[in-house]
Amino acid sequence: MIPLKSPEDLRMLKRSGEILAGIMEKLQVVVRPGMTTLDIDLLSEELIRKENAQAAFKGYQGFPGTACVSVNEEIVHGIPGERVILDGDIVSIDLGVNYKGFFSDMAVTLPMGKVDGNKLKLLNVTKQSLDIGIKQAKVGNYLTDISHSIQSFVEAQGFSVVRQFVGHGIGIALHEEPEVPNFGRPGLGPLLKNGMVLAIEPMVNLGGWECKVIKNGWTAVTVDGSVSAHFEHTVAVTDKGPVVLTKY
Ligand code: MG
Repeated sequence: MIPLKSPEDLRMLKRSGEILAGIMEKLQVVVRPGMTTLDIDLLSEELIRKENAQAAFKGYQGFPGTACVSVNEEIVHGIPGERVILDGDIVSIDLGVNYKGFFSDMAVTLPMGKVDGNKLKLLNVTKQSLDIGIKQAKVGNYLTDISHSIQSFVEAQGFSVVRQFVGHGIGIALHEEPEVPNFGRPGLGPLLKNGMVLAIEPMVNLGGWECKVIKNGWTAVTVDGSVSAHFEHTVAVTDKGPVVLTKY
């Protein structure tokens, strides 16, 4: 974790988050059944370029896309390609922006057309679990107070939390220490301090928590084939409470 050094750093990071949230807002209006996941990627790339920012994921450890686009049973790290989005699918879009060396990271899962009730509940619960986790990102709490609050809520709703992928510190690099799990006991890990910035990102499955990475070496899917949702915000821990930098 690299704590922010000055109010100016926080201002720049806020700008990065605003740009990203604005792009996500635009994508949500446009993305619909019939598009390919590559269409979403190309649009994301264009929107980031228009803001004079850079795609933080492209080329990161060799990732080929601007966005991670994960459909239905895909949890995270879907590689944009020829897959066509169908009516009834849920589509997770995960996007990272580098604005003048300041990184923000955000994900949403969108319902496409007519989506069944179970999937809609999954989206609502995952989004709510992110909000619940964010409330725990306050000075004086321990890191895993966030983790525990997310897991407790999700499991009480009958869903499961992915273990293999976790949130992370962020700021002047895309991925910084510490890891931010979405499960575990409370009261552990570093004490949260003013100036820490975390990407909190619950990944929640309709079925079991187990996941595997498919042959492309990137895309994580549920082992039981159940659908999965993912919501993420970049959040600053401040003396005035948690500040969501990717709010829209
Ligand atoms: Mg992230």
